Amino acid sequence: MRSLILATLIAASPSAAWANHCATRPNLEALVAPWNKADKIFLDGRTDITYYFEMKPRSYQVVYGDYTGKITSLSPVEEIRSDPFYPDERKLGIELIKATDRLIALDFHEVNRPKDADLVIIGYCNKNDHKEGAITQNKDGTQYFMILNGCGAIATGAMSPIWLFTHEFGHALGLEHPFDGADGDCLFDDRPRSAEAAHAGQTVMAYKPSPGGPPHFFTEYDIWVLRKIWGSE
Ligand SMILES: [Zn+2]
Repeated sequence: MRSLILATLIAASPSAAWANHCATRPNLEALVAPWNKADKIFLDGRTDITYYFEMKPRSYQVVYGDYTGKITSLSPVEEIRSDPFYPDERKLGIELIKATDRLIALDFHEVNRPKDADLVIIGYCNKNDHKEGAITQNKDGTQYFMILNGCGAIATGAMSPIWLFTHEFGHALGLEHPFDGADGDCLFDDRPRSAEAAHAGQTVMAYKPSPGGPPHFFTEYDIWVLRKIWGSE
């Protein structure tokens, strides 16, 4: 009985307690994702990372791991039919990956087959999807599938392609949402769109648009955290 009550208390506490315990200044913990630990163990010091842009219609079975990145038999699975990227979209993505490559110790290489890639970048079109994109995995957890919805907020102009790409790429590189307190830390506020919440001008991992217009790249704060995680180039 005692443990049951304790479990209930712990489960009930985060939203009530953490709101007042978010960091008031940008710090490392607030942006480092809990799944980054598993990624580092998987890479085991490897710094060469391969990626692939899906330029053909193809179906992928994508798996959603838990917030530590773990996949179990209960993990949600989705069938994604790719909506091939336009050459210009791929070009923009490669520019953003190269600009990131120049700042951190990871080195990114494009490959010609999805099966050779650590990170497969897949566009899809779903107007009714509640999300703009996600970092998902293959069923073995040996590849990341970065899925980007071309028919959501990007299509209406509510979100910019650069913001969406850097946000999801940021997740792949071990960044979490600043408002996410599931791992015991958050920045400013755990409500994504409150007046106090971080905006995209402070970190592209925010949900709230920047008052200064959409981001052109990772912010200084993002880059500082990415360099802390992976080391400088
Ligand atoms: Zn996100």
